[in-house]
Amino acid sequence: MFNVNEIRKDFPILSRTVNGKPLVYFDNGATAQKPQVVIDAISHYYSFQNSNIHRGVHTLSREITIAYEEARKTIQLHLNAKQASEIIFTKGTTESINLVAHCFGKLAIAEGDEIIITQMEHHSNIVPWQLLCEEKKAVLKFIPINEAGELMLDELPQLITSKTKLVAFTHISNTLGTINPVKEMIEQIHTLSSSLREDKRRAAILIDGAQAVPHLKPDVQDLDCDFYVFSGHKLFGPTGVGILYGKEEWLQKFPPYQTGGGTIKTVTLQKTEFAESPLKFEAGTPHIEGGIGLAAAINYVAEIGFDNIQKHEHELLEYATKQLNEIQGLVIYGNAKHKTSVISFNVGTIHPFDIGTLLDKYGVAVRSGHHCTQPLWQFYNIPGTIRASFAFYNTFEEVDLFIEALKKSIRLLS
Ligand code: PMP
Repeated sequence: MFNVNEIRKDFPILSRTVNGKPLVYFDNGATAQKPQVVIDAISHYYSFQNSNIHRGVHTLSREITIAYEEARKTIQLHLNAKQASEIIFTKGTTESINLVAHCFGKLAIAEGDEIIITQMEHHSNIVPWQLLCEEKKAVLKFIPINEAGELMLDELPQLITSKTKLVAFTHISNTLGTINPVKEMIEQIHTLSSSLREDKRRAAILIDGAQAVPHLKPDVQDLDCDFYVFSGHKLFGPTGVGILYGKEEWLQKFPPYQTGGGTIKTVTLQKTEFAESPLKFEAGTPHIEGGIGLAAAINYVAEIGFDNIQKHEHELLEYATKQLNEIQGLVIYGNAKHKTSVISFNVGTIHPFDIGTLLDKYGVAVRSGHHCTQPLWQFYNIPGTIRASFAFYNTFEEVDLFIEALKKSIRLLS
C-alpha cells in the first residue's frame, strides 16, 4: 500500500519549515531529499566502518571493501547489467559523460566522424561532446524538438550516416519532463547505422538517465545501450557519487581516464600495467560512503515500487497542470504525450527569478533559470522558466499550497 503520509516520515527534512511556513520541496529535479535509511547508512559508515577499501588486510578494511562491492552489486542488479564490472562509480552524471567522451574519443573518434545529441540535452551532455568534436575535428549533430518538447525522430534517417559513431541522449528531459522512447530510438539507430556501415557495426549509444532513475527502473540489457549514466543525489542518495554503466566490450578496450592509485596492476618507474574494469576507471580513494548510501537509496525506492511512484507522480502532475493552466498568462513549456512530473512555465513577462524568490517566502522551493539547457531555450526563444518538479513524497496539499503562493506572487508582481 502506497501511503504518502507514512513515506514522508522517512524524510526528516520534509518536516522542517522555511520562512515560517512548512517546506514545500518542488526542486527534486535539481536534487532529491534523502530518506533516513540513507542518512543512517552514511552515519553508520563513519561511526563504525570508516577505513579505506581494497588493499587493506585488517578487519575494518576488509569489511568495508565487501560492503562497497556489495553496493556495486546492488546497482548492477538494479540496472540489470550483466556483471558488476560494468558498473563504475563516478562523481555523478557529469563525470560519467566526461569519462565516456574522453575514452570513447581516444578509442573510436577520428576526423570527420559524427556524434549526434539532441536539442533537449543538459549542458553536461553537450559540452563534453563539443570539446571532443573540436579536438578530433569531428562533427556534432542534433536531433531537433517540436513545439510540444518531443524529439523529431523522423529526422533520424537524415541525421545518421556511415560516419555516425555515437548517439547520446537523455532518457527524460530535466526541463520539459519529456520521456523519450529510448528503446525504440536505440533500435532505430542500431538498424540505420549498421545498414550504412561497411563493417556493419552499430553506432554506440549513451543514455543520460539522471532524470529517469528517480521515476523508473532502467534495464540496460533490454535497452541494449552501450552506456547508461546517472547521479546518486537525484535518486535519493548522496551527492558526489554517480554511476557509469558501460558494456564490458567497451570498458575492456577503453584507455584509462584518470590514473593513479587504485587503477593499476603493476607500476615500474618506466611503465604501468592497468587493472581491469571497474578498478581501471576508479582512480584514488573513492566516495565510499557515497556508494554505500546510493545502494541504500536504491533498496529504499525499490521497496516503495516504481509502479506506485509513477502512479502517484502522474496524479500530481495532472493535478498541478490543470490548476496551472487555469492561471491567466501562464505558459507551460513541455507538453509531451509521455511526460514525467516536471513542469516548466512562465507567467506573462514576469522574470522567473522574481517568482522563485517570492515562492520561497511562502516556503515553496522551485528552480528558476535556464536549468542547464540553454540550447533548448534558444528553440523557444526565452531565457528560462520556473520549474516545479515532484517526487513520490510530494502531496496534493503541497500542490495547493504552491498554487496559492504562486497566485499571491503573481498578484504582487503584476
Ligand atoms: N543530465 C541531466 C538530464 C540532469 O538533469 C543533470 C542534473 N541537473 C545532469 C545531467 C548533471 O548531473 P550532475 O550535476 O549530478 O552531474
